[in-house]
Amino acid sequence: MAKQDAIVIIGAGIIGLDVAYVLAERGLGSQITIVAEYMPGDTATNYTSPWAGCNFSAISGTDANALKWDKLGYAHLTRLATECPAESYVERTPSVEYWQETVPHDKIKHMSDYLEDKQLKNMIDGSYHNMLQFKVLPANKLPEGVKAGITFTAVTINAPKHCEYLQKQLEQSGVKFVRQRLPNLEAGYISPSTRLVFNCTGLAAKTLPGVKDDKVFPTRGQVVLARAPTVKQISMLHGKDFETYIIPRPGSNGNVILGGYMQKGVGDGSTYSHETKSILERTSNLDTKLQSPETEVLAAFAGMRPSRTGGARIERDLITVKGQKKPLVHNYGAGGTGYQAGYGMALDAVQAAEDELKELAVDARKAKL
Ligand SMILES: Cc1cc2nc3c(=O)[nH]c(=O)nc-3n(C[C@H](O)[C@H](O)[C@H](O)COP(=O)(O)OP(=O)(O)OC[C@H]3O[C@@H](n4cnc5c(N)ncnc54)[C@H](O)[C@@H]3O)c2cc1C
Repeated sequence: MAKQDAIVIIGAGIIGLDVAYVLAERGLGSQITIVAEYMPGDTATNYTSPWAGCNFSAISGTDANALKWDKLGYAHLTRLATECPAESYVERTPSVEYWQETVPHDKIKHMSDYLEDKQLKNMIDGSYHNMLQFKVLPANKLPEGVKAGITFTAVTINAPKHCEYLQKQLEQSGVKFVRQRLPNLEAGYISPSTRLVFNCTGLAAKTLPGVKDDKVFPTRGQVVLARAPTVKQISMLHGKDFETYIIPRPGSNGNVILGGYMQKGVGDGSTYSHETKSILERTSNLDTKLQSPETEVLAAFAGMRPSRTGGARIERDLITVKGQKKPLVHNYGAGGTGYQAGYGMALDAVQAAEDELKELAVDARKAKL
């Protein structure tokens, strides 16, 4: 029998769930146990995934990894938006993004190579008729004070519901979920049959014994949940020291997430009325549809992005457990892009353990004989 706890994933945020998803796609579901203090459906300051906006955008970095993970993430998310939009809470959504300061020309060029808009005019499927083709906006179409702007078809994700969807899919593939707060990384080797651990602990990687990565830090973001059923488009304004964004939430009966803030090093889970006021002012200038009397403010939240100096850490490591060296793969530090980058990061994390996974597959086949 293949052992359920042969592979342990610590963490049930989007990063741990995406690793399990990639492994389950390879038929390894019944060998995986996810151990986590917080699970899909929970809310906690130390659990970032439910607080995300959440969309695919040009907000991510311009390094080679970010470009690669964006491309893989876009393909993965648009596939879900095609195959199971209602169940996965992932939808195609028209988007406009503006830059007030530094314009990431190389990134825009890279995105334009894979965004599916090029094919849109050839598609007759009615669900595409509202989508936007990729376009760099001419200067006369830019709002005052804006240096550059693009339109394209992006993806929106209802973050908490998407995590619940992934949990359900994974359970159907044989993945077991165990709620437990582990005292250290070593405790991830939950039984003698645990061969491989993925460390997907997000912000906790800063303090968890066995990791204690001092490059990890929180980037706080307050957001406002509002009902604004006439808003059907993403709008984003990338400023010098701020981000302003409006993101429709799929499957929510007309709700939007309004943001935001990128407060580096701030780990405060409280919400502040002056920040809510600033968000409402900035977003209703960006999309005047929000000024409609129909708009209803529902709540404010604050989430901590798990940022890391130098970018996410996806790295194979060894750890001594009861005198024996055991393989480990770190996958944390996704910052503000865990949903758009998570699938690509998971592919890299899984690749880092290819030899172990091959042995597990051989063992599973032998056990069946
Ligand atoms: C306001 C805001 C807006 C955002 N918008 C977007 C967006 O539009 N697009 C996008 O792609 N991303 C967005 N993000 C970023 C995204 O939410 C994060 O990158 C992502 O959620 C990080 O996921 P994670 O799995 O690494 O961490 P988490 O979701 O925090 O999960 C960590 C997991 O590890 C577990 N864990 C930790 N320590 C232990 C332990 N000792 N024992 C057991 N379990 C443990 C936790 O319980 C949890 O299950 C946004 C974030 C915020 C805050």
